[in-house]
Amino acid sequence: MSQLDETHDPQARSWLESTRGIDCEFPIQNLPFAVFRCDATEELRGGVAIGDQIIDLAALAKLGLFQGLAADGIRAGAQSSLNLLMQLGPEVWNAVRRALFQGLLEGSSLQAALRSCLVPQSGAQYSLPAQIGDYTDFYTSIHHATAVGRMMRPDSPLLPNYSWLPIGYHGRSSSIGVSGQAFHRPRGQRLPPGAAQPVVGPSMRLDYELELGVFVGGGNPRGTPIPMADAEAHIFGLCLLNDWSARDLQAWEYQPLGPFLAKNFATTISPWIVTLQALAPFRVAFIRPDGAFAPLPYLNSPRNQEAGAIDIRLDASIQSAAMRERREPPHRLSSTTFRHAYWTIAQLVTHHTVNGCDLHSGDLLGTGTQSGPTPAEAGSLLELSAGGKQPIQISRDESRTFLEDGDTVIFRGWCERTGAARIGFGDMQGRVLPAIDPPG
Ligand code: MN
Repeated sequence: MSQLDETHDPQARSWLESTRGIDCEFPIQNLPFAVFRCDATEELRGGVAIGDQIIDLAALAKLGLFQGLAADGIRAGAQSSLNLLMQLGPEVWNAVRRALFQGLLEGSSLQAALRSCLVPQSGAQYSLPAQIGDYTDFYTSIHHATAVGRMMRPDSPLLPNYSWLPIGYHGRSSSIGVSGQAFHRPRGQRLPPGAAQPVVGPSMRLDYELELGVFVGGGNPRGTPIPMADAEAHIFGLCLLNDWSARDLQAWEYQPLGPFLAKNFATTISPWIVTLQALAPFRVAFIRPDGAFAPLPYLNSPRNQEAGAIDIRLDASIQSAAMRERREPPHRLSSTTFRHAYWTIAQLVTHHTVNGCDLHSGDLLGTGTQSGPTPAEAGSLLELSAGGKQPIQISRDESRTFLEDGDTVIFRGWCERTGAARIGFGDMQGRVLPAIDPPG
């Protein structure tokens, strides 16, 4: 269970100058993990963000500055994927966090040694932070589920099961990429309005979904569910996630078994994983809309009610090819916060394993599109354009209902509140390329 300690002290300052700006996403209180290299000739290894730098965990491991659990964690984090570090559990993650915090603190005797392990973030190449064995995407925003449900079923937008269990589907890990991912517009089957037969071709209704990703830390043996009281100990941290979606393919294929090819051509995540421990100051009460059912006992706990939700601010922006050429900044489409979610991350883990399903370190859970209570807080173009009926002005001469070739979608995530240091997730972006030529 993540708890406040000295590493969250908002007064704490690092000796590293670049942590001092008010807009710094990676102050000493954050310390997120990624896998990186400086150029293609180098080995991938784990790193921790501080200011505009990365602490190279492979270099740090060689120095042997730390002992015990912190040393174990740093050695594990020096590998080309973070799966082993994720497997080691919260005691080790927190030992690494405390050790790095102490070393980075103003006046630390380790300053010179740690400085020798820094490499600049500018120019770093990132890879996926873990080998993602399995990927499950949920549907935790009741505002998103209601808005989308209303388009299909105006009289009963939410199906009865939504109130009782976290709806999800098994996605595909093969097409998950890291920020900077560019992918071809998917082709597939869609049923044009009023047509008797489907056609195959490039998706005409390509969309993004503003989500968070949840990296599983230690897994569970098959047949052994994870109770709510232990669920958060199985979560390493959170990243930004864009579940790119082809709405026309989805509308035609989704019944009766759920999303399939509309979702598995590309999913983009941010390189940095912000640990649950770093998010501790931003925990908030789990509050459902008036009149909602209380969760069944296996999905409920006092801790979940008191602080199961997390206030993570999210926003989505778009930059077209023309805007890029004219050097115009991205246009912000919407913003919301994860605190509105109808299910917490602990509930996702517990429900996923209630049947005995085994999770493994490095598995990824998507939270589902995060939309706030008002239409302007929607986390997809499907909602913002009212199903494609209301174009959105994105620059002086361009509007969008769905994504066009060349569009870049940018997500940002951050946490802030009085009495805590502001922390960020870093930018995440992905770009749509023209459809690939049809097979044959
Ligand atoms: Mn999704």
